[in-house]
Amino acid sequence: MVRLTFKGASQEVGRSAFLVDDGDKILLDYGVKLTPHGTEYPLPVKTNLNAAIISHAHLDHSGNLPHLFKETNCLAYMTPPTLDIAKILWYDTLKIAGLEGMDAKFDKDEITKTEKFTFPIGYDKPMHITDNTQVTFYDAGHIVGSAITELKLRNKTLVYSGDYRYVETRLHGPAEFEKVKECDYLITESTYGDRDHPSRKETEKRFVENVQETIDRGGHALLPSFAVGRSQEIIDVLSEYNVEAPIYYDGMGQKVARVYLDNPSFLKDHKLLKRALEKVNWVKNFKMRKSALKQPSIIVCTSGMMQGGSVYAYLPEIYNDKNSKIMLTGFQVEETPGRTLLETGKINLEGLNVKVKADVQHYDFSAHAGRDELFRAIKKLSPEKVICVHGDKTVTGKFARDIKAEGFEAIIPELGKEIEL
Ligand SMILES: [Zn+2]
Ligand SMILES: [Zn+2]
Repeated sequence: MVRLTFKGASQEVGRSAFLVDDGDKILLDYGVKLTPHGTEYPLPVKTNLNAAIISHAHLDHSGNLPHLFKETNCLAYMTPPTLDIAKILWYDTLKIAGLEGMDAKFDKDEITKTEKFTFPIGYDKPMHITDNTQVTFYDAGHIVGSAITELKLRNKTLVYSGDYRYVETRLHGPAEFEKVKECDYLITESTYGDRDHPSRKETEKRFVENVQETIDRGGHALLPSFAVGRSQEIIDVLSEYNVEAPIYYDGMGQKVARVYLDNPSFLKDHKLLKRALEKVNWVKNFKMRKSALKQPSIIVCTSGMMQGGSVYAYLPEIYNDKNSKIMLTGFQVEETPGRTLLETGKINLEGLNVKVKADVQHYDFSAHAGRDELFRAIKKLSPEKVICVHGDKTVTGKFARDIKAEGFEAIIPELGKEIEL
């Protein structure tokens, strides 16, 4: 019998954490939820774990793992790039907590311990993590090192999708569900369970045309982007379409880009990204920020939802310039400065709520599967039961109803509940 306990990401996006128990106790992800009102944590795990598995580095999947290692001495399994990027994010969490006078729930010692207890595994390499449990990671096509987790338990096979895309994107091939041979239970993300994405090619074309048009009229294209995945992808797109303007790259994305370059086998076309990153100006100091603003330019910076980060080094010079554009390329959570800017055309600058004269635009470069991709994956795996996690309440409800209409059993998880599969 397999029991599953929902420690987070139940009818919500964020703090993914699921405890699988068939005698062996395996934790799938241990993330946090970053909200405009502070960080929300997964429910505590009060049992002796045999292993923890991290699907990918994003903080909503990895962010609380060092806290777990205050108590536990089990091994953690993830791909090598997941560990490298998670480390960057954990240290950044400590830095931000220090600046804000908040408690990060772990310190450097726990990060060191987490690293020591982590066993990195590449894709397609089955590994016995206990006598009765075997894990295999497959490429999830979401960010570098992101994995679909196949868990062969005593009598059943459980597949955890993590976050994924099931179509080709600029940096990654589609998720490799065809490599999964068996699936009794599927824990799937549900983020876009109720809608499809616009065509990627058309989005890229429209985006690049608008960047070029901004440059041609003498403005700056300011691109606040997620440091992990999105900023690298945006630079790849700009390079591919030969946009004619100097590109400046500022913020934490630079560190993550080095992990991308160090892991060629985890990318679709490593050479293209390398060439693109070699063409950009890596902003290292204040002087370079100034020179970025002296001429029409493209500035790729953090953060993706404008909650702090290097974007604020440029905004004071750009917000009032009607020739410039602020182009958001990621999902904007409610109440974040990015979402507020889109809805009201205003942003808070040094305590003042100012009207932005620069154009503000939004593009859907999502790294999550759209509805059609989610259903293709479910049909491909054809599981006995589908557990819908990592989706807003209304989306999860609709997604589960539609899955049932296709003839599968669908489960809507409740936070803290344990179920028997
Ligand atoms: Zn993710
Ligand atoms: Zn996620």
